[in-house]
Amino acid sequence: MEAYCLKCREKREMVNPTAIWMKNGKPATEGTCPVSGGKMFKIGMTPAHDSLPKPA
Ligand SMILES: [Zn+2]
Repeated sequence: MEAYCLKCREKREMVNPTAIWMKNGKPATEGTCPVSGGKMFKIGMTPAHDSLPKPA
């Protein structure tokens, strides 16, 4: 999955993308930048969220 890296200021293919639910109940994906090792974050629903229990 592609996401924007704040360190590189470029779009990169995310390493170890992990589906999460944010505190406000919105879906997002967290991962690592393959170039800078910076944290990457992308808001939005993915197929992985279908099997991820949504917190109450
Ligand atoms: Zn980066």
